[in-house]
Amino acid sequence: MKELEERILRDGDVKPGDVLKVDSFLNHQMDTKLFADMAKQWHKDFADAPINKILTIEASGIGIAAMVANEFGVPAVFAKKSKSINLDGAVYTSKVKSYTHKRVYDIIVAQRFLGLDDHVLIVDDFLANGCAMDGLLQICTQAGATVEGIGIAIEKGFQPGGKRLRSEGYRLDSLAIVESMDSETNNVTFREQ
Ligand code: 5GP
Repeated sequence: MKELEERILRDGDVKPGDVLKVDSFLNHQMDTKLFADMAKQWHKDFADAPINKILTIEASGIGIAAMVANEFGVPAVFAKKSKSINLDGAVYTSKVKSYTHKRVYDIIVAQRFLGLDDHVLIVDDFLANGCAMDGLLQICTQAGATVEGIGIAIEKGFQPGGKRLRSEGYRLDSLAIVESMDSETNNVTFREQ
């Protein structure tokens, strides 16, 4: 998606440790017009899929998921990060290793918000090693929900998550795939798609 690539080139900041900071439009301040355009793109790309729920993980996925849910006309659910599993009713749980904070945390989704009848589009801001996605996929498996696809704003294509998820057969739609980035020059290149 050209609009997103251009925005990354203009406002993205490459940090050491293969971290791309996009705080000014995606992760902290949110450009909702850009989010709406991303949502429209996924809606077009998944027009043939019977999606009836959007799933993401807090915190950065929530703004994107809300706009996507609005475009599809379906609810959005976000997995909550939890230090201790507070069994407030029945929940699905999984463990995720954080890319940016390097620690493991539990994620939970209440069973009443995800089930056998759900056809899910999972969305998130970034895909790196795929740990956050694995956690969300495990939750969908526990729920017996059908994963129709995965929508990622920025995939870091030089890290293994995307390749692995595609080889596992998931329909992965990344709107920008970073092929390389350099924290010294702030140079970012994208995969042609
Ligand atoms: P993964 O679990 O695929 O290794 O990493 C994905 C998660 O880590 C995303 O939910 C995102 O919040 C965070 N993340 C991974 N790489 C980056 C990055 O380069 N920049 C930012 N801002 N977040 C990232």
